[in-house]
Amino acid sequence: MDAPHSQVFFPSGFSELFAVWTRFPDAVLFAGGTELVRSQDGRLLVLPRNILSLNQMDELQRITRTERYLEVGAMVKLNEIIQLGKTVPEVLSMTLRGIAGPFLRNIATIGGNLCSSRRKMDAAAPMIALDARYELRSAAQVRWISASRFSSLPGPPAFNRQELLTRIRIPLEQWDYSLCRKMQPSRPGEPGEGAAVFIAQIQKNILTEIRVVFAGQIVLRDKNSETFLAGKQLPLDRREAKQFVELWKTYLSAVEIPSTILQAKLLNFIEAGILGLTD
Ligand SMILES: Cc1cc2nc3c(=O)[nH]c(=O)nc-3n(C[C@H](O)[C@H](O)[C@H](O)COP(=O)(O)OP(=O)(O)OC[C@H]3O[C@@H](n4cnc5c(N)ncnc54)[C@H](O)[C@@H]3O)c2cc1C
Repeated sequence: MDAPHSQVFFPSGFSELFAVWTRFPDAVLFAGGTELVRSQDGRLLVLPRNILSLNQMDELQRITRTERYLEVGAMVKLNEIIQLGKTVPEVLSMTLRGIAGPFLRNIATIGGNLCSSRRKMDAAAPMIALDARYELRSAAQVRWISASRFSSLPGPPAFNRQELLTRIRIPLEQWDYSLCRKMQPSRPGEPGEGAAVFIAQIQKNILTEIRVVFAGQIVLRDKNSETFLAGKQLPLDRREAKQFVELWKTYLSAVEIPSTILQAKLLNFIEAGILGLTD
């Protein structure tokens, strides 16, 4: 039997997009389409019945910069963001460079990365750490949501019905110390995949801000340990660094972590990060 046909719609503006979505409520948003391909293991590609491609939506391809923010449309490719160079906070650029290979990064979009329902994909961690905000749009309204709220629950992102991500606003603060690490499972299918980032701000040898975020099946961030170190003189002494790691251990023991290997890898990353701020 022939496979059922798929219809692909290419709206060029929001009114057209929402008109199609109302007519075909099962329509699936399609950005770079790399996730759709990744999730298939058959010889023939199986596509959803109705596809709403975002490719002709010029408004979603825009990049703007003010003194305080970088704003990127949801359809901006990962490589386009990397190519903005020093405008992009280092931790975001580092994380994006770690996603797949250069060919895929020319196709994959930032919106598709942040809206995956598989897990919180790699760009989520730096976006949360940098206090990014997302513009979400439905036919009825436009609303803004913080990256941390958007990714706060396990499972798919917090969308209302027939709503899409349109813009990402990234604050352009100065971060003096940036690290990121991809957490890969030891065996395929093992939980615990994701990305961790570590950023810090330093003013006149004082650690003014420190943030550590992991995003994968769940998001992990311990604000208690961040407050403990804020305001300390640099370089930190080893005792303070050790206490920071201990606070993270306490935090991790209280949350449900997808795997003990992830816990060990995360603590190793945090320890390496904090040691970089000691003498
Ligand atoms: C070989 C390979 C390696 C990969 N490696 C990595 C990796 O190392 N790290 C990583 O993070 N990811 C990885 N990915 C996953 C994926 O490629 C990326 O997450 C990519 O950024 C997804 O972007 P896309 O534009 O292709 O999204 P799509 O596949 O088009 O969409 C992804 C999901 O988001 C929805 N969506 C897309 N745009 C919007 C929007 N604007 N609003 C609401 N929903 C939307 C779609 O409906 C779909 O459910 C890999 C994929 C492949 C095939």
